[in-house]
Amino acid sequence: MSETWITERLHDHYAQSLKVEELLYDSKTEHQRLKVFQNGTFGRILTLDDVVQTTEGDNFIYHEMLTHTPILAHGNAKRVLIIGGGDGGMARAALMHKSVEHVTMVEIDAGVVEFSKEYLPMLSDGAFDDPRLNLVINDGAAFMRETTDKFDVIIVDSTDPIGPGEVLFTDTFYGHAARALTSDGIIVTQNGVPFMQGDELTGTLRAFQALFEDASCYLATIPTYAGGPMAFGWGSHSKAPRATDLETLEARFKAADLDPGYYTPEVHKAAFALPGYVKKLFP
Ligand code: SAM
Repeated sequence: MSETWITERLHDHYAQSLKVEELLYDSKTEHQRLKVFQNGTFGRILTLDDVVQTTEGDNFIYHEMLTHTPILAHGNAKRVLIIGGGDGGMARAALMHKSVEHVTMVEIDAGVVEFSKEYLPMLSDGAFDDPRLNLVINDGAAFMRETTDKFDVIIVDSTDPIGPGEVLFTDTFYGHAARALTSDGIIVTQNGVPFMQGDELTGTLRAFQALFEDASCYLATIPTYAGGPMAFGWGSHSKAPRATDLETLEARFKAADLDPGYYTPEVHKAAFALPGYVKKLFP
């Protein structure tokens, strides 16, 4: 029987292909084409419009670095907002923190939530049943525009700036996010692979520099986000969280009693050490 591969064509001149051992789900929602398939290396893989969103095998890196890093840097994060994150992996990682009292998750596509519960239950791992989670099905941009709530950590776990995700990379969205952050709050964003999508990071950093006292980014390498390390945007009304020293992070990490596969306090600090080609992307 001929082999089947799914090719991700997110970039103009570079693609990645993943072998389909078994196609488990393939359907179109109101917003996007959902596929889940079994791959010999990464386990179950979720794609939206044939772009890898998350995999059973390497999602831990991405979810840990977008939750533990801001939450431990903050030190007393109680209210967390997740924009996107339909698979539930980000909510699960945020809810691991006993200090977190409330997670609001705003996902535009109910189809992603429902089918992730069935086909990717290992990602949410009970998060959708956690009483601290408030799931809102809405466009994250509309939610951010209308909310009067304040959050200690905002995590933008969106698709790339194509299709429904595009509005989540705009100055307007970031402006509303800045208003929804507490005085020592932190926003972190999925900002693509800078070697391949440098403009995306530059755009976010330009907006963050105008809106926040502290604007930067940090890196982590997730194998299925192809093309090099992924960048996470960092914005805060205070310079203090990013400057949290290693000893403090180690104490908070110990108290949090997490069991991460990637995050450590040393990795946290090192993630903000940026190579020249990324520094050149700063406005
Ligand atoms: N880890 C992935 C990445 O780095 O590309 C993101 C995974 S998560 C599945 C992305 C989620 O963002 C999807 O569930 C998608 O439906 C959601 N999304 C896209 N645009 C959105 C919007 N405007 N408001 C809320 N959620 C949105």
